[in-house]
Amino acid sequence: MKAKTPLQQEIIGLSRQLCRLTEAQKRYAFEHCFEHLAHRNAKNVLTCLECGHSWKGGNGLADTLLGVTCPQCGMKLEIAVGRKRIHKDIEYFSIITTCNQYQVIRFFRAACTLKVGLPASYTIFEVAQRWISPDGTSTTVARNRAYSSIYYDLWLSQSKMEIRPNQEHHVYDICPACTYPKQRFIKELKRNGFEGNYHGMRPYDLFMAILGNSRHETLLKAGQISMLRYTLHSPKRLDNYWDSVKICLRNDYAIVDASMWCDYIDMLRQEHKDIRNAHYVCPANLKEAHDKLVEKRNKENLQKKVMDAKSHDEEYRKKKGKFFGLVFTDGTIKIRVLESVVEFMEEGSELHHCVYANKYYEKDNSLIFSATIEGIRMETIEVSLSKMQIVQCRGKHNGISHYHDQILQLMKDNICKISARMSA
Ligand SMILES: [Zn+2]
Repeated sequence: MKAKTPLQQEIIGLSRQLCRLTEAQKRYAFEHCFEHLAHRNAKNVLTCLECGHSWKGGNGLADTLLGVTCPQCGMKLEIAVGRKRIHKDIEYFSIITTCNQYQVIRFFRAACTLKVGLPASYTIFEVAQRWISPDGTSTTVARNRAYSSIYYDLWLSQSKMEIRPNQEHHVYDICPACTYPKQRFIKELKRNGFEGNYHGMRPYDLFMAILGNSRHETLLKAGQISMLRYTLHSPKRLDNYWDSVKICLRNDYAIVDASMWCDYIDMLRQEHKDIRNAHYVCPANLKEAHDKLVEKRNKENLQKKVMDAKSHDEEYRKKKGKFFGLVFTDGTIKIRVLESVVEFMEEGSELHHCVYANKYYEKDNSLIFSATIEGIRMETIEVSLSKMQIVQCRGKHNGISHYHDQILQLMKDNICKISARMSA
């Protein structure tokens, strides 16, 4: 993409003036981006894959666990496991610096090839830069990339560093293995609360957040890191909770677990509690307060379901009341008519079938029985009132129990008692 706006033209110009990597920076990248290996052969001869030097190994187990130091180049090495004689790796290295008024993050692709008996070979070249303005907008300068769904690192090293769309995923997804420790920051970052600690967030994300969103800036300054991290990519979400966050800030209340706290605030809201009241918003024990609300809501939900079920009771009693009290037993199994809609609910939830969900209590032509042994529900039976036949008889998850045949027999033996009530 050609630089079009004056801003883009300025940045492309400045980009060309940025320093090349120094030897010290390259050395740092190669040393810290990659694992450094020693190869061990069957005769316990170790070969440094950095400089190619070989020497006789000591205690095999100790070397494997603790690593070794090459007597020639002084590199700390891990013992390579397996027989592989060539090791290749690609990582990203980043430099955080400033240029004029801009905060700049530079990304370099580093590659290493280690071969037994040869000195290590390293390459590194710059692939992308983020230019962040003090107002929290950014411009991306990057090389072109070969498009492949499998390889994410196919940067075309000969392509130009040009202005690219900010949202390009291959730039956004770069996750450097290491960052050069000497870093420079624009004064606006320091002014907005940044003191050099990224708190596990990506520098680009954190910088953009605290420069572009005053609420994120406030969170960082107040040390509300969990909340900052939780809302870093969705400032809209932060707006939802801001009234309550302000109460926390005023009361010096640390939100330690932002996702749980937001969940808790949501429940307070649904309970019509005052989410600007420190008594609710700043619980001494968040987990306890959160779990208590969850339990209360579960109970209320259940109560609501029971109330709903009860509202159908009168209708059900009108239709099937004349069968109430029907109970048959053979000594082991007890079969009885369900006498309330709450019983349908309990039957359905215990046996995990749809007798309640599909409103069998509303069906005119069917009568529902529950078969139990010592009070434990075994199967549910539907009898057709027009045909005086068993329509279905089902246990847990619509399967059958050990007592299925016995239940069917007991039901068949007593079906005449239903007919007797029909005509009553
Ligand atoms: Zn060496």
